[in-house]
Amino acid sequence: MQALEGDVVTDGWQSEEVKEALDLCLACKGCKGDCPVNVDMATFKSEFLSRYYEKKWRPREAWAMGLIDVWARIASASATVH
Ligand code: SF4
Repeated sequence: MQALEGDVVTDGWQSEEVKEALDLCLACKGCKGDCPVNVDMATFKSEFLSRYYEKKWRPREAWAMGLIDVWARIASASATVH
């Protein structure tokens, strides 16, 4: 909301307002060709979230998908053949 009101976002990479706004972006790159100054929102979202989570614990669902190879190996090792 700060940015929409013309205020300067002072929290930088830790801005909750920017995080909240980017939560609505699907990173589909649909807007990339439309932007007159070539802002790539998907890349910006990726960069922002990477820096945002440098000082914060990632949400549970991020760990679930980010470690899916580990979960798959555990499930595979514990599976029994009938
Ligand atoms: S990449 Fe652009 S068009 Fe796609 S959801 Fe994000 S802001 Fe919208």
